[in-house]
Amino acid sequence: MDNSSTSIEPKGTEAGGGVFQVSKAFDRRQNAVLREQGLDILIVKNYEDVKIPSLAAYDVVMIDYNAEQRAFELLSAIRASVYEEVYLMPCFLLTYEKEARPRDLALSDGALKEPSVISHFSLIEQILTRISEIIGVKSDFSGRKVLLKLIRYLYTRDKPLTPVATRNAHTGYSYPFLEANIMYFEYQEIFDLLDVGEEKGMLKADFMDKVHLCGNCNGGFLNYREVCPKCGSRKHKSQHTIHHFVCGYVGPESDFMDNNKLTCPKCDRQLRHIGVDYDKPSLITECENGHVFQEPNVEAYCFNCHQVSAIDELKSHTINEYNLTASGANLAVSGKAKEVTKEPTELEGFVSLSVFKTFLQMEIQRQSLSNKTSAVTYVNLMLAPSTLKQNSENFNEFSREIARVFKSQLKPTEVVTFINDDSFLVISPEEGQEAVSQRINEIKQALLIWVKSNFEGSKKDKIISETFELDSSKDGSSVLQQINERLNIF
Ligand SMILES: [Zn+2]
Ligand SMILES: [Zn+2]
Ligand SMILES: [Zn+2]
Repeated sequence: MDNSSTSIEPKGTEAGGGVFQVSKAFDRRQNAVLREQGLDILIVKNYEDVKIPSLAAYDVVMIDYNAEQRAFELLSAIRASVYEEVYLMPCFLLTYEKEARPRDLALSDGALKEPSVISHFSLIEQILTRISEIIGVKSDFSGRKVLLKLIRYLYTRDKPLTPVATRNAHTGYSYPFLEANIMYFEYQEIFDLLDVGEEKGMLKADFMDKVHLCGNCNGGFLNYREVCPKCGSRKHKSQHTIHHFVCGYVGPESDFMDNNKLTCPKCDRQLRHIGVDYDKPSLITECENGHVFQEPNVEAYCFNCHQVSAIDELKSHTINEYNLTASGANLAVSGKAKEVTKEPTELEGFVSLSVFKTFLQMEIQRQSLSNKTSAVTYVNLMLAPSTLKQNSENFNEFSREIARVFKSQLKPTEVVTFINDDSFLVISPEEGQEAVSQRINEIKQALLIWVKSNFEGSKKDKIISETFELDSSKDGSSVLQQINERLNIF
């Protein structure tokens, strides 16, 4: 890296795709490439004009922060990528004078006040050096791939995974990197994953806070409310009781009210000075149904799933910050090749993603000649946290077994690839979208029943899928791009 001059050039606009041409016509903001200190930096101003896998061609990404939600979505998509070169990429938010939201900031490597990374140059050097130690190192880590991803991310950043307090997080605390990678909204899987990382000695937990979460959905947005212990009514009024020293009468304040004065209903004397002739020893509450009580019950209403719980039914959960341990760092760098297992892509009948893309390209060309439609389907296993936990010890075997059964249900002409350990893509030649989607649905049902009986699956296991018709006017990568836009998988 030399101290060469800084230059900005418009990014060569690849006309391919055609998906965004309408918006492009109205959006003149262009992405540009900045060369600084020998680094190729992509400055993203037009969020639509970014193909996530192609980011691997740059050293650094700088995202204009003028539309904060879009910037956050792009950052999430980068961190969710399956490619190490992409999800580990140094990313900065170009905020100028604007303050970045804590969650956005946590997902980035810093905020910049001007389009230059000089201020963060040593950080970038450190990240790039560490990435170069990791790139290409295969791992046979037998747990969930997301955990390995997290460990590599933390290793390259050399900083802990810190929970961010935000009203946008389901539990009130967000781990943005994990949220980008785990689409479960209800967070249990994230908690379980962090527990596994700790149990395996890769992460060290440091206490940050304790939260109380809805026992049903882990929601942290709760309304604590006081209710009548007899009938559960939320509608009640409290008032003081008055003790009249002179005659010893005790009753609610309302019984003493007499035209802005206080008069004892028993002895008819007017009350004078609190502490001298009377006092207010307690509060009493009366509900709309006439029940009088001193201590109301407290219950929690969940704004997310609307469940009402008693306080002792809430989940008390510890929120930790996580540091990489030495053995975690070792796994990040070495891949810790203990047992040698086959990569999922080496499974019989599965092709690698790049081979899949070639097939896709060929299928599109073939289709334009033959006039027959074909389809491509994205399948994502959304297994319940309990099922994943049940099989976490032999996760590789478990997911290979599922993949094998899934493949066995497909037609011999169908081409299938892994995107990661719980998602597949399938090309179904010469079959319309509707027929394919119906057939895949039947396979999904059968697969769920199979998981249930063979791997202690739960009722909450789900498999989602979406089938896209191949369009001969598009090339293979733009079909993948289209899938990605909907599903955000690359
Ligand atoms: Zn009541
Ligand atoms: Zn009295
Ligand atoms: Zn809830």
